[in-house]
Amino acid sequence: MAPLSKYNHEPKIAYFSMEIGLRSTIPTFSGGLGVLAGDTIKSAADLDLPIVAVTLLSKKGYFTQHIDKEGNQSESPVEWNPAEHMSLLDEKVSVKIEGRNVFIRCWLYDVESVAGGRVPVFFLDSDLPENSEEDRGITHHLYGGDERYRIKQEIVLGIGGVRMLRKLGIDIKKFHMNEGHAALLTFELLKTSRKDVEQVWDEDLIWDTEKVKELCVFTTHTPVEAGHDQFSYHTFFEICDEFIPLHILKRLAGEDSLNMTKLALNLSKYVNGVAKKHGEVSMTMFPGYEINAITNGIHSYTWTGPSMRSVFDKYIPGWANEPELFVRADRIPDSEVWNAHHDAKKDLIEYVDAETGVKMDPDILTIGFARRATSYKRADLIFRDLERLRKIGSGRLQLVFAGKAHPRDNEGKDLIRRIYSYTQKLAGDINIAYLPNYSMDSALKLVSGVDVWLNNPLRPLEASGTSGMKASHNGVLNFSVLDGWWIEGHIEGITGWAIGPAPISNSADHGSSDKTDVNDLYDKLENVIIPMYYEDRDRWIVMMKNAIAKVAYYFNTHRMMRRYVTEAYIR
Ligand SMILES: *Cc1c(COP(=O)(O)O)cnc(C)c1O
Repeated sequence: MAPLSKYNHEPKIAYFSMEIGLRSTIPTFSGGLGVLAGDTIKSAADLDLPIVAVTLLSKKGYFTQHIDKEGNQSESPVEWNPAEHMSLLDEKVSVKIEGRNVFIRCWLYDVESVAGGRVPVFFLDSDLPENSEEDRGITHHLYGGDERYRIKQEIVLGIGGVRMLRKLGIDIKKFHMNEGHAALLTFELLKTSRKDVEQVWDEDLIWDTEKVKELCVFTTHTPVEAGHDQFSYHTFFEICDEFIPLHILKRLAGEDSLNMTKLALNLSKYVNGVAKKHGEVSMTMFPGYEINAITNGIHSYTWTGPSMRSVFDKYIPGWANEPELFVRADRIPDSEVWNAHHDAKKDLIEYVDAETGVKMDPDILTIGFARRATSYKRADLIFRDLERLRKIGSGRLQLVFAGKAHPRDNEGKDLIRRIYSYTQKLAGDINIAYLPNYSMDSALKLVSGVDVWLNNPLRPLEASGTSGMKASHNGVLNFSVLDGWWIEGHIEGITGWAIGPAPISNSADHGSSDKTDVNDLYDKLENVIIPMYYEDRDRWIVMMKNAIAKVAYYFNTHRMMRRYVTEAYIR
């Protein structure tokens, strides 16, 4: 049977993402962006939406993280075999890179929902014998290599991706660029929307761009400058020469350099940021564009631990495909919420012991912090005043950390080393573990097994954040800086707690300083969180249920996808 025939009966939305994180054993993601893409696809399958996804194979994976006794991170490639997970398709396409034809094939992975829907994910792969040794490696390393390597990857993703979908005979009615990495797909659409290749570009440009805009949706994901790809035109044209003349391209992608975000902004009819605040921040970064906001979510079933799933199945049947039903979480008896959480906590503690040898106590308040180790996330904030932390937390607090630093991010690697050194300084008073090789499996154990989920990024740099939403699904309480999604999810003392002041809108001063934030963090830990955990368990459980009923019911990818459909895809 032709494996694709089941997809070809109606026009599709094509979701393009440089990274997609579906499961730990398919290591083609580095962090939040990829996991969000995976969750998006899972919800699309549950909702039986007409979507297909395109990404790179990243055959050498992201990397396996090793940490030595001093906290030094080293990396090794992840060994995984695509053939164990996906099927190789026969179709091939080619793109021009440095004057050569580079051939691309693809692997098909079907995301199947228990509800019956399925979404195909096409993993593009340049590792073909007809390509040169160098070109065979283009789809090997996620975020690896230099500027030239990145440009080649983005040519394969954007241009190669569109060609592959056409070759497969899939009719596409919208192209959704998940981040600017895929924006070269607009080139292919511009080129093929021209009636006559000999036409002068300028004359046709207005008509061309309007037609392409109708087809494109763009989601921007970060206010961090380095997160927006910019390539020198000189380098770009050395690698990619079959397309638009320079003067036209400058009009679409910026005068000084090829800015992938600008290219996507100029060629998409619908553009959005990933939380309300992030939409506003993006408008100030890119004045003159209308940028909407669709706040991120997570895939509820994937991110609920097994013990809590059983409780939800019993008291909130249908929750996985209709997370709005969480609004009825108060039906769950207190003891069952607590016991399910306690089981998840014991499971985490066993895992921490097995991975690190650190022995934790299930009766001690446990705080978790895990995400990419990069400086704006300030993983070490809680250690700014070691003596105060010791005084507040001795015998009453334990901490679990995890997170990978990008191999070239030395500040991120320093962060891990520093946390290791604090671990030793606080030994005997506060137990601290750093779990190596953070991935989706360990993420689930963490977000379900700790009591409090900590997040303290430097504002306004957290576009959304999603791990806190995972915590809420498991009745784990968020304690976070008011940035990204938490501005929308936070009700003080009801759904969790804020760190630092309320956000200031329309101001260059985002009111975040290490000093005010860390003082507030210590004050609330000492006066609110620790006392409530040990002395008012009933109140704590009310808050756990609030997290489910008032946070999880909304911050999920089912709600998010319904919004993309009504606001972006069918307009
Ligand atoms: C959810 C998730 C993230 C994103 O975490 P944030 O706190 O939103 O940055 C990163 N990595 C993994 C493995 C995840 O599961």
